[in-house]
Amino acid sequence: MSRSIVAGNWKMNTTPSEGKALVQKILSEVPQPGTRVIFGVPAIQLMQIQQIVSGHANYAVAAQNIHEKESGAYTGEISAAMLVDAGIEYVILGHSERRDYNGEDDDLINLKLTTALEHGLKPIYCCGEKLDIREAGNQEVVVGRQIEQALYSLDPEQMKQVVIAYEPVWAIGTGKTATNEQAQQMHAYIRRMITNQFGSDIANNTSILYGGSVKPGNAAELFAESDVDGGLVGGASLDAAGFAAIIRAAR
Ligand code: PEP
Repeated sequence: MSRSIVAGNWKMNTTPSEGKALVQKILSEVPQPGTRVIFGVPAIQLMQIQQIVSGHANYAVAAQNIHEKESGAYTGEISAAMLVDAGIEYVILGHSERRDYNGEDDDLINLKLTTALEHGLKPIYCCGEKLDIREAGNQEVVVGRQIEQALYSLDPEQMKQVVIAYEPVWAIGTGKTATNEQAQQMHAYIRRMITNQFGSDIANNTSILYGGSVKPGNAAELFAESDVDGGLVGGASLDAAGFAAIIRAAR
């Protein structure tokens, strides 16, 4: 089974009309991608984009959040069951913007991961260190803790459904990309952690994506690293030609 995935994270960008046009253009540019392609779209567009990609092999849709509870009086929230019923396959969890702006910590993210998995949703779990941590050389300690707290309580069958995205916070939306070596080093470290906890079969089948200013110009060299299985792409996923080029750069 290929580990290769290119996922776009649109964040709070695109109206429904713009989102529809964007996906249609990407589908026409890359009708048969050699990698799995996932569109992480705003909640209001989930069903529309799912309908557009259904029937296109290798294309899927991700929500950008879920609530950790099953249902109830949580105004404005979306549950895992709602997404599954709408045909959505993935959910992005642990993104640094939600950690920073919505106060999500690893305990809450672990609850959301568990809820997602119990409903059959595949989490794209984001982790990554801030600049001061990288400058102090403590990135493996911090990312290691994020991996441990979010993922170690999962059972092996659940872990098989998880995609990991390593996203150094200092590289997100800044135009600064981790070097190929920095990315490979951290991805190999994460894979070793997954091996130690869940065994090499699961670790060798886990997709570990790099995120942080991935662009058409740097995607191929990042994706060429042996433990970099693709990318989680923010800004560059909003441009059809650029995102199509990143899809083509995947191994
Ligand atoms: C992201 O937010 O997941 C991301 C990687 O953003 P960007 O590609 O814009 O750095």
